[in-house]
Amino acid sequence: MNYIILDLEWNQCPDGKEKEEALLPFEIIEIGAVKMDSHHQILDEFHELIHPQVYSSLHFMTREIISIQEADLENCRTFPEVAKDFLEWWGEDACFCTWGSTDLLELQRNLAWYHIPSPFSFPLLYYDIQKIFSIVYEDRKTRRSLESAVDFLGLPKEHTFHNAWSDAVYTAKVVKRLTEEDIFSNSSVDYYRTPKNRRQEISITYKTYEKFVSKPFSSKTEAMKDRIVTSTRCYLCRKNARKKIRWFSSGTRSYLCLAWCEEHGWLKGKIRMRQHSDGTFYVVKTLKLVNEEEAYAVKEKQEIIRLKRRLKRTFHAKHR
Ligand SMILES: [Zn+2]
Repeated sequence: MNYIILDLEWNQCPDGKEKEEALLPFEIIEIGAVKMDSHHQILDEFHELIHPQVYSSLHFMTREIISIQEADLENCRTFPEVAKDFLEWWGEDACFCTWGSTDLLELQRNLAWYHIPSPFSFPLLYYDIQKIFSIVYEDRKTRRSLESAVDFLGLPKEHTFHNAWSDAVYTAKVVKRLTEEDIFSNSSVDYYRTPKNRRQEISITYKTYEKFVSKPFSSKTEAMKDRIVTSTRCYLCRKNARKKIRWFSSGTRSYLCLAWCEEHGWLKGKIRMRQHSDGTFYVVKTLKLVNEEEAYAVKEKQEIIRLKRRLKRTFHAKHR
């Protein structure tokens, strides 16, 4: 299977958020991509600038970040023309690598804007090289800029950054430093299209945790009543882990819980509520085996939240 390492540059509404098209906040103006085989040999490259159709002048930020002027785009082809060639170019059976989690999302939005059928299967798994870089070289959480990752690895800097082609080439160079195992064991789930029903729900087991993406629910409360959403089955032995701390809200859109697997120990559950544009919610749940200390931190967090709530109540009662 070939790798398609993709980088896009986009423009946004130059007249501010209020005037933007809700369905197209970011209009793609440049596509850069590198095609690599499974032995990390570069097979081909794709690069084209795009004449924008929605936002004809460039937002000052866009102008600042990428070195493109309106005049550079004037004689370029439009997105539908370029996209058609690009989709043909990548061929079938590609696995997509990007620096960060936004490129494939914006690509799908731009395709939808022009009613171009999605070329992606469902669910779409891709490889966020920025995230994988952090997992392999750092603490899993830090997100470096592409340039600082290139510096970190001591790779030569032959081109300027923030150009779709050169960023794709640099990302490809980072990919070459990763093993197949590094990449394929750390897939990301694309959230542009999420499960429409129970049958489509996504469950992926990684080395150190399990991720679940749910169907839509009318409210957060409805979601938290759902037995599959709230279940804490151990991802190693598939047995039901007993909840020691039931799901509690740890923020406006997040919940935590703690369960105990007889065989594997503490299992920390985390739910993040995400909202669709139609107002419905879907759940991204992760279950992770944790040590005693991390388990204790969940208990501590619950206590702090309880205490804060109690303080708030007494404060308001006193000052009414
Ligand atoms: Zn277990």
